[in-house]
Amino acid sequence: MEYISTRGGGSPVSAARAIIKGLATDGGLFVPQTIPSIDKEFIHSLLNLSYQERAKKIISLYLTDFTAQEINDCVENAYGHNKFDTDSVVPTVQVEGNNYLLELWHGPTSAFKDMALQLLPQFISTSLKKLGDKNELVILVATSGDTGKAALDGFKNVPQTKIIVFYPQKGVSQIQRLQMLTQEGNNVAVVAVKGNFDDAQNGVKQIFNDVSYNEMLAQKGFQLSSANSINWGRLLPQIVYYFSSYADLINMGKIALGDKVNFTVPTGNFGDILAGFYAKCMGLPVNRLICASNANNVLTDFLMTGTYDRNREFFKTISPSMDILISSNLERLLYHITNDSEKVGAWMSKLQQEGKYTVDEATLKAIQEIFSAGCLNDADTMDCIRNIYDKDGYVADTHTAVAWQVAQDYTKRTGETVPMVILSTASPYKFNDSVLTALGKDITGKDEFALLDELAQINKDPIPQGLARLKTAPILHGKVCEKQKMQRSVSEFLNI
Ligand SMILES: *Cc1c(COP(=O)(O)O)cnc(C)c1O
Repeated sequence: MEYISTRGGGSPVSAARAIIKGLATDGGLFVPQTIPSIDKEFIHSLLNLSYQERAKKIISLYLTDFTAQEINDCVENAYGHNKFDTDSVVPTVQVEGNNYLLELWHGPTSAFKDMALQLLPQFISTSLKKLGDKNELVILVATSGDTGKAALDGFKNVPQTKIIVFYPQKGVSQIQRLQMLTQEGNNVAVVAVKGNFDDAQNGVKQIFNDVSYNEMLAQKGFQLSSANSINWGRLLPQIVYYFSSYADLINMGKIALGDKVNFTVPTGNFGDILAGFYAKCMGLPVNRLICASNANNVLTDFLMTGTYDRNREFFKTISPSMDILISSNLERLLYHITNDSEKVGAWMSKLQQEGKYTVDEATLKAIQEIFSAGCLNDADTMDCIRNIYDKDGYVADTHTAVAWQVAQDYTKRTGETVPMVILSTASPYKFNDSVLTALGKDITGKDEFALLDELAQINKDPIPQGLARLKTAPILHGKVCEKQKMQRSVSEFLNI
């Protein structure tokens, strides 16, 4: 199977090439030329398999240029070796009646981003080897918290890669900082930037855009790359858990093979929910995909009206991983719905120039046949966390709570009785201040470790290993740099 640009430029490339390039030459995103389809037999064959085996079957439909052995090694390195704190990797948990939570945060950094960022580095390293590319890929990341740690852990010790993460010195939580500063690995660097997240991000962009610096790096055998969510290798791993959850529901006796289910997804960059769209297109019996947003509800408006308009106030919310005004992966959806790269290119350039675009009636209708949408503000999110706990004894994080409430509103509105799987994207321990406050606890004056302990008294799940060890783990990084000197930090890291 080959991959093409959503904007029509360039010629089709192999999966390995698409993964190494990240972005297509014309600025578009890589999409599979055709979406593979599966039948009931295929789903049936997943039932008795581990998550890793399910992943291998689904991924091999897309990475047709990879050998079975290569896919096997990638998947085992990502999800095997007890890296996840549960054998099922992503459990589907029944919470209340027809509502299930798909827990995506049992990975090494307790972040949903682990699902993709454990596997992407394996794909990259294997692709470099396959293509005979001798360059070393240097991953540059600016992070406001979670992604940096998940990327560090995914890339650590992966052959032919190096990773350097910049974070705003005062812009991350105590636990997030410790997660990064204790990072092990022979190919990692972590640098605090004297500035805010935008400074760190702008610095990284400048390094990417500095042509002569990149030429100099190329001469020394280095090629810069990013781990952001537009890479096909980051999206593909996410298709797997939609199938896996469906298979688990059958195994739990909750549905029969062929029954439809709904998925509600807390959404930021539109990657997670887009993976659900691929699963549906492949033939997974999905009734509806429900897109949940916080107060930054640009996607809710788009899915209701067909107008995407980023010219609006930006809110900092208690579900920060969804604080996004440009959802890059939407471009892939528009391409698959229209099959018209010219149209997609025109909308994307309008977005770039005017900050908004409106799709035609037929496109909107086709999208609305698959997607629904809803949003929730912070106060209602806090209420929702308390309600789930009071009713079901389940402690949900802020992102999960947004999706939970949007799902309940959807079911009430439609009167549907279809089972609802809600994607749970963060461990409550990662957002313990908001969660404890929602549960009526007074957190003033307590440090983050005290909050972890307090939450552990309420929550059924213990404190994840990766967080518990931070209290005593040795600090391995300590570099700080001025925001104008980030490039020099990269050069120092590469010894050039
Ligand atoms: C990244 C993230 C999301 C949003 O996922 P997208 O793929 O960007 O839509 C939701 N919740 C959490 C906790 C995340 O880290």
